Amino acid sequence: MTNRKVRVRFAPSPTGPLHMGGVRTALYNYLFAKKNGGDFVLRIEDTDQTRYVPGAEDYIMEALDWCGITIDEGPKQGGPYGPYRQSERKAIYRQYADQLIASDHAYYAFDTPEELTEMRERLTKAKVASPQYDAVTRQTMKNSLTLSEDEVTRRLEAGEPYVIRIKLPRKEEVRFHDIIRGWVVVQTAQMDDKVLFKSDGMPTYHLANVVDDYLMKTTHVIRGEEWLPSAPLHVMLYRYLGWEDVMPQFAHLPLILKPDGNGKLSKRDGDRLGFPVFPLNWLDPHSGEQSSGYRERGYFPEAFVNMLAMLGWNPGTAQEIFSLEELADAFSLERVGKSGSKFDPEKAKWFNQQYLRHRPDAELAERFTADLQQRGVTPDPDYVLKVCALVKEKVQFISQFWEFGNYFFQAPESFDGKVIEKRWNPEAKAYFEALTTDLGSIDWNAAAIEAQFKATAERVGMNPGHVMQLFRVLVSGQPGGPVLFEMMELLGRDTVTTRLKSALSRL
Ligand code: GLU
Repeated sequence: MTNRKVRVRFAPSPTGPLHMGGVRTALYNYLFAKKNGGDFVLRIEDTDQTRYVPGAEDYIMEALDWCGITIDEGPKQGGPYGPYRQSERKAIYRQYADQLIASDHAYYAFDTPEELTEMRERLTKAKVASPQYDAVTRQTMKNSLTLSEDEVTRRLEAGEPYVIRIKLPRKEEVRFHDIIRGWVVVQTAQMDDKVLFKSDGMPTYHLANVVDDYLMKTTHVIRGEEWLPSAPLHVMLYRYLGWEDVMPQFAHLPLILKPDGNGKLSKRDGDRLGFPVFPLNWLDPHSGEQSSGYRERGYFPEAFVNMLAMLGWNPGTAQEIFSLEELADAFSLERVGKSGSKFDPEKAKWFNQQYLRHRPDAELAERFTADLQQRGVTPDPDYVLKVCALVKEKVQFISQFWEFGNYFFQAPESFDGKVIEKRWNPEAKAYFEALTTDLGSIDWNAAAIEAQFKATAERVGMNPGHVMQLFRVLVSGQPGGPVLFEMMELLGRDTVTTRLKSALSRL
């Protein structure tokens, strides 16, 4: 067990787009691998062909790629323990099911779906709390423990459908240590004899998962809390297959909760409250339903990853902004909380804003230019750069540059009503008439504009504080924005005086 190279795997089933909780699981696996000089493996768990969704696997890979989570071994990358898609490993699993039968830790069961339903109904009527196929009930069912050897052979040879079930003891305690939750203890009386293998030649999730973790030399299983109930069964499989000494360590991650803390964050919460729960846009191939993604909403992948990392883990300090490398350096499973973390959509935006502020103006300008071009605006590159530098403090997304800075490219169509109502009067009008003329003859820079703004006020006996916000509204239409006089400087003398004249004629 000691001195094994750390190897973790992210093992999604391609049944749809990856939820942000899934991305967080992948991220924690990745960070743990990087921190410990280990390998990060992507394994596609597609044994349940009925739930297979075309496009889901590509989506998963694209999402990880967008997040900067690099895969050491996987379906595309290959590696020494491949193939990395369970459907391509089909031939591997049978021998382990056979091994379990040979060692009397598994058995054949021939019960039809009707017989299973009948058994459950019978037990429910008898007030059994959780009706299950277990050490007691299996005695009454059609399996290789109750049928004669000849009968079992006959049925198998006749090609009758069957499953192979694990044979759990009636009363035994299963205990294992989870890095996040501590000791977990479960009684086998509470567990059922899960199906491991089906006569179509496919293993179930449980068998394939354990066999692959063994063969792929997985040292740590880091996965969502919803798999905690399966873990005791997996522990039993390691034991029965004789692999206990190399059993991975478990770490079951707490859920990501709805913003109000009531239950698991679901796709519907995103639709209802207007935030994405998926990393990328997704078009469901069956229903045609669209789901929005963080990428298309304009999030920086670094911001998304940083936000996800903090959703369940904390560094033990006040630091909130971490690059992927810094996260890998600081990460530990011991600092992952036991309880669920509430998702805060405002905090997600805040993270994006932090990253946007630290982006070079040139990059912001390039992206904003693309947006402007789509709106039919073809501005001077140097001007866009300056607009970005001025407006970036105000925005959380590139898309908001237009919302907060459209007046740099077009005259306002209307003026903020509240400010006009409060401040516009004949004296103000007289002041701006004088200012418009005065601005015609000064040097055009922020300091000179400010000086003139005050000088004109003094001359006409106006309190500058009463016309400051009006000045902004008359020129930009908006009640707030970047530093006033710098904004005027950038807009230019012609634009400012033309807009003042237009406002004076309209108001
Ligand atoms: N295929 C499982 C899933 O979809 C993997 C669970 C595990 O990591 O063991 O989440």
